[in-house]
Amino acid sequence: MLVNKRDLYSSIARNLVAPLWAKKERSPYLRHLGHLDKSQYRSIEEARADQLSRLKKLLEHAWANTAFYSERMKKAGITPASINSIEDLRLVPLLTKDDIRANKDRMVAGNIPREQLMAKKTSGSTGISLDFYVDEASLQWKRACAIRTDKWTGWNIGEKVGAIWGNPEYKKSWKGHVRNFLLERYTYLDTLKMDEAAMLDFYARVKKARPTLLFGHAHSIYLFAKFLDVKGLADLRPKGIISTAMVLHDFERKLIDRVFGCKVTNRYGCEEVSLIACECSEHNGLHVNMDTLIVEMVKADGSAASPGEPGMIVVTDLTNYGMPFIRYKVGDVGVPSSRSCPCGRKYPLIESLEGRSADYVVTPDGDFISGISLTENFAMHLKGIKQIQIVQEKVDYLVFRIVKGEDFSQATIDGLHSLVTERFGRKMTYSLEFPDSIQQEKSGKYRFCISKLNNPFL
Ligand SMILES: [Zn+2]
Repeated sequence: MLVNKRDLYSSIARNLVAPLWAKKERSPYLRHLGHLDKSQYRSIEEARADQLSRLKKLLEHAWANTAFYSERMKKAGITPASINSIEDLRLVPLLTKDDIRANKDRMVAGNIPREQLMAKKTSGSTGISLDFYVDEASLQWKRACAIRTDKWTGWNIGEKVGAIWGNPEYKKSWKGHVRNFLLERYTYLDTLKMDEAAMLDFYARVKKARPTLLFGHAHSIYLFAKFLDVKGLADLRPKGIISTAMVLHDFERKLIDRVFGCKVTNRYGCEEVSLIACECSEHNGLHVNMDTLIVEMVKADGSAASPGEPGMIVVTDLTNYGMPFIRYKVGDVGVPSSRSCPCGRKYPLIESLEGRSADYVVTPDGDFISGISLTENFAMHLKGIKQIQIVQEKVDYLVFRIVKGEDFSQATIDGLHSLVTERFGRKMTYSLEFPDSIQQEKSGKYRFCISKLNNPFL
C-alpha cells in the first residue's frame, strides 16, 4: 500500500484516534466495518438468506410494536408468518411519503424509548419536507456501510477529504471543529455560495491539504471541475471522487474524470435510509447495499421490473427498528441489471438511475422521457450552454431556462429548436428564459428537469 509521505498522520487518525473516538462515543461502527469488509464477497445465496431472516424479525417487530404496520398487514390479510421469501414481501402494500406524513407517530415502535431515536428531516425537493426517526443502532450500522463503500474508491479512514457540500455540520460546535481536525479531516466548499472566489479559495486549500477523496453533489463537483478546466487549474489528483445526492449525467462524469485524472464513483442514497447503492472500482453499475436494505424496482402495475426496464425504487430498511420503513417508495426510478460484476462482489447491480419519478417529461404523443436522459441529450448536443433547466408546464409547452456559456450564439437557439422537434414532435411549443444562474434548492441540490404533469410512476 502506497503511503502518502506528506500525510503520515492519516495512519494515526485511523489506528488510534478513530478507535478511541468510537470508544468515547460507544459506537460499534468500526466493529461493523470489520464485519462488512469481510462479508462483502459472500455468495448471493448467503446474503439473501441473511436478508430473509432479518426481514422476518423486522416484520414481527413492526407487527407487535407499531399500530401502523399491524393494521396495514391485517388489512392486506397477512401476518408476518405469511412472508416466507423475499418475493413474498410484495404482499405488503407500498409505503408512500404521504403515508409517513399522515402516520408518523403510529409508525414509531412503542417498545423503543423516544430518547434513543434521532429525529430527521428530508430537505424535500418537491417543497414538502418529511419528518421521520432513525434509531441509534441503525445509524451506526449505516455509518459503517457508507465507509465501506468510501473505501472502494481507494480512500481509507483517517485520510483527508475535500467536500463540496452545503451547510457543513461540524461548524455548529467547537467539538465538531476538534473532531474534524483530528478525525474527519474535511476541507469544505460550501455549495450554497459557490462563486468564483469561493472555488478559487477551495482549490488553494485542497491543493495544500491534498485530500485523497473528493466528495459532493454530482452537479456541484461538475461545476467545480468545469471551473478548474477553464482556469487551467486541472492539477488536483485525489485517489477517488464520490458523487452523490443527485443523478450524475454522463457528460458530467466525462469532464470530472478528465479534470481530476481519476474515475468518479456514483453513489445513490437518500436521507430516509442512507446508502442504497454504490459503484465499485469497475464503475459499471451500482451495487445494491444488501446489508442494510432490500431494494426492489417495481413497475407501475406492481410487478418487478426486468433487467433493462425502468422501475420505481422501493426499499425495506432491515435496520431501523425505531421507525420501520417497509416497502418505501423513495420517489426515484432505476433500471436493474442482470450482469455480474468482475469485482467479485455478488450484490446485484443497478444498471442506471433515471432520477426522480416526478421528473419524467411526456411528449404530446404520450411517450415518457426521463429527465436525466433529456438534460443529458440537450447538454451534449448544444454548444454555448453552461446550465440548462427544463420545465414542463403543459403537455405541449416547455420552458427552457438557459445559463449562457461563452460560446452561446444563434446556433445554440437553432440547435435547441431542432432538438425539441426531434424529441417531442412538432406539436410541442416552448419558450426560452436566460437567468444568470439556476437556483439550487435549500439542500444544495439542483433540479434540471421539472414536470408539472402526472406520469406512469406517480
Ligand atoms: Zn463491482
